[in-house]
Amino acid sequence: MNDDSAQPDWHTATRAVRAGLTRSQFDETSEALYLTSGYVFPSAQAAADTFAGELDHDVYSRYTNPTVRMFEERLAALEGAQACAATASGMSAVFASLAVLLESGDRVVASRSMFGAIIYVVNEFFPKWGVETVLVDPTDLDAWAEALSVPTKAVLFETPSNPLLAMVDIEEVSALAHAAGATVVVDNVFATPVFSKPLEQGADVVVYSATKHIDGQGRVLGGAVLGTKDYVAQIVTLLRNLGPSLSPFNAWVLLKGLETLDLRVRRMAENAETVARFLESHPKVATTIYPTLDSFPQRELVAQQLTGGGGTVVAVKLDGGQEEAFRFMDALEVFDISNNLGDAKSLVTHPATTTHRRIGAEGRAAAGITDGTVRFSIGLEDSRDLLADLEQALARL
Ligand SMILES: *Cc1c(COP(=O)(O)O)cnc(C)c1O
Repeated sequence: MNDDSAQPDWHTATRAVRAGLTRSQFDETSEALYLTSGYVFPSAQAAADTFAGELDHDVYSRYTNPTVRMFEERLAALEGAQACAATASGMSAVFASLAVLLESGDRVVASRSMFGAIIYVVNEFFPKWGVETVLVDPTDLDAWAEALSVPTKAVLFETPSNPLLAMVDIEEVSALAHAAGATVVVDNVFATPVFSKPLEQGADVVVYSATKHIDGQGRVLGGAVLGTKDYVAQIVTLLRNLGPSLSPFNAWVLLKGLETLDLRVRRMAENAETVARFLESHPKVATTIYPTLDSFPQRELVAQQLTGGGGTVVAVKLDGGQEEAFRFMDALEVFDISNNLGDAKSLVTHPATTTHRRIGAEGRAAAGITDGTVRFSIGLEDSRDLLADLEQALARL
């Protein structure tokens, strides 16, 4: 085996292509796909020694797998984390990140503007196990301070948030959280490792849905939890025993995705900014939301926290409610209607009737999601074709 572990002086692009690469005896150029559930031992004694922890040998792919390990090492090197545990999906990453911290009687403070399934986990699932959950307005530092004025075990938020891109001040909230004794978990899906490094800004743990930009081509589900060696060791124990481990095939797809992540995400963000500026200047669009627009309410925080781009998601609010939003979406020819995001293909979704249906009218009102809100995930097409498509669809309203 020929290990290409990340060198401390490597820049991000080099890490994305080379970190974690472990070559087999065949000296392949591209990372090998070890599609195997188990491993064989050279002797009964070697098996016994492995199980006794005296020999370092893979045992079973629910525990470890060489392809999954390459993905974990590469992503840890990109994120600047001590360690990474890969998971079967983004949701299993979020669940595991909290499950290793929480016991009955503990308290969680979380942003109320989060991915729908995460709201379910913190607000409905963990309370059944005796965990108290407090949800706060992500942009309101006073609300965070008040919620964190009593001892708390975990703090969870995503920034920018889905779908209206509300930003959380990672540094300030992490300071408040640490004073309350909490571990800070950041869902960094929208910012991506290209534009934001929450660990450098005071967070303790970063979670990803690798399904989104890390794959970026709509193929596989996957997730990751990144943090200190000790913390990630607890995640690994959970995965080994509960089972939401990443499949080696998916890990291989995601590993190759990391090689082009930086290129893809930067081009998608360029396209997103072009689309946002076009929509903002269009008379039929009431409000356009994108972090690098001058009209974005948290410009200072964007400058501090999102370096190099505003991400790949743009949101608009149309005045004509659901009826107009549907007519607009149905008239689009290049954009596909899908609840997914972070794909090479540009996608459009109506949050109120899909991703944010379950939180109800009251929850949507609190998060600012109107019936006329439309979310775009901007892909890798030529932006001229995206603008022409938006123009013809808006002309029909
Ligand atoms: C998609 C998504 C998740 C969940 O990830 P899956 O891979 O679908 O399980 C979590 N957080 C955010 C912000 C997401 O967009």
